[in-house]
Amino acid sequence: MMCEMPKLMPVDQAIAAILASVDPVQDTETVSLGEALGRVLCRDQCSTIDVPPCDNSAMDGYAVCYDDLARCQYQLAVSQRIAAGHIGANLQRYTAARIFTGAPLPANADTVVMQEDTELLDGAIRITNTDIKRGQHIRRRGQDITTGNVVVEQGKRLQAQDIGLLASVGLTHVPVYRRLKVAVLSTGDELVEPGQTLAAGQIYNSNRYTIMALLSSMGFEAVDAGIVSDDFAATCEQLTRVASTADVVISSGGVSVGEEDHVKAAVETLGQLSLWKLNIKPGKPLAYGHVGGTPFFGLPGNPSSVFVTFCLLARPFILAFQGQIHTAPLVLLVEANFEWQKAGRRQEYLRAKVEQHSQRSRVQIYNNQSSGILASVSWANALAVIPPGKTISRGDLVQVILFSDLLN
Ligand code: AMP
Ligand code: MG
Repeated sequence: MMCEMPKLMPVDQAIAAILASVDPVQDTETVSLGEALGRVLCRDQCSTIDVPPCDNSAMDGYAVCYDDLARCQYQLAVSQRIAAGHIGANLQRYTAARIFTGAPLPANADTVVMQEDTELLDGAIRITNTDIKRGQHIRRRGQDITTGNVVVEQGKRLQAQDIGLLASVGLTHVPVYRRLKVAVLSTGDELVEPGQTLAAGQIYNSNRYTIMALLSSMGFEAVDAGIVSDDFAATCEQLTRVASTADVVISSGGVSVGEEDHVKAAVETLGQLSLWKLNIKPGKPLAYGHVGGTPFFGLPGNPSSVFVTFCLLARPFILAFQGQIHTAPLVLLVEANFEWQKAGRRQEYLRAKVEQHSQRSRVQIYNNQSSGILASVSWANALAVIPPGKTISRGDLVQVILFSDLLN
């Protein structure tokens, strides 16, 4: 007899539900720019100055008054020299000021002629390329930022370029949300830590390292909460303890339907299970809920499932909880360099590699997509997304999410 398949929640719906449940952290602190990388800004940052602060030269060359050029037949005496960081005198009529990149334009000058278009005579220049536009090669005051502009918005996780921009308007410190503390719990009687000798039937705990590294690269405080054995009482006790000391708890393993899987039942007992079982491959048994009041993600045990479910579901949640506004990775369309002829029921996230082929990029997939194969993730630089019921032929466009959009 055929049994009815239970309805699994689509991935996009699960992400939306998870994000809708976020209550972003409110506590804030002030950090110096040197400590601000990866932190989420809690207030819009405005500029109190114009950048650049004055009109200045975009080239090494000569500052001139455009109207003088034709009258002097493109030959002008050099009346002064202005280097970056120094203020020149008013430009005398019918003369040129030697000027360097970034140096303030002297009063009365309105145009810069680049040095390559001139010939130096004795104390004068001759302009060899007379195709000159009034106002050329000048960086205008405020062309980057004007006073009062928002330079970086609240809810942005600060990257190197944001920090540079904040520095360019003279800020030394910025207000950010308190950094979240995320506890990582591993479950399974078979687990031992690297450095110990493996006894028969044991494996090394790799999920702990994967998850902690993912969290650290995203700027969170990751705390190892150890290994809990496959026992209901022990799982409840450990989860309760860990949840009371962290902002978020992430476990791996023990969320499936086997008799040794106690995490789901423990969460139901200690708090609330909001999601369980998604239409995703790998990673179907993902669990999301709360232990006491602490958000909880129960990732599956298989190492590839851990990676995929963390990146797609836990990552946007924690970032949004941390106050970040935009959390969705880009989904690109890339030409398939593989065949996928067996349509699946679940949305599949294949470990894939985007590669350059002359002028185009193409994506191929790892030859073993089993959820236990962590080498596939190490090999890959992207996930290729195959919706339920779809097949892919070589040359089709497939949806791809680059790791570079997920691993930070
Ligand atoms: P489970 O969902 O607990 O049945 O785990 C599924 C598979 O993932 C099993 O083969 C486990 O041995 C493996 N696994 C669970 N936790 C870890 C871990 N922390 N590191 C590596 N493999 C794990
Ligand atoms: Mg287990």
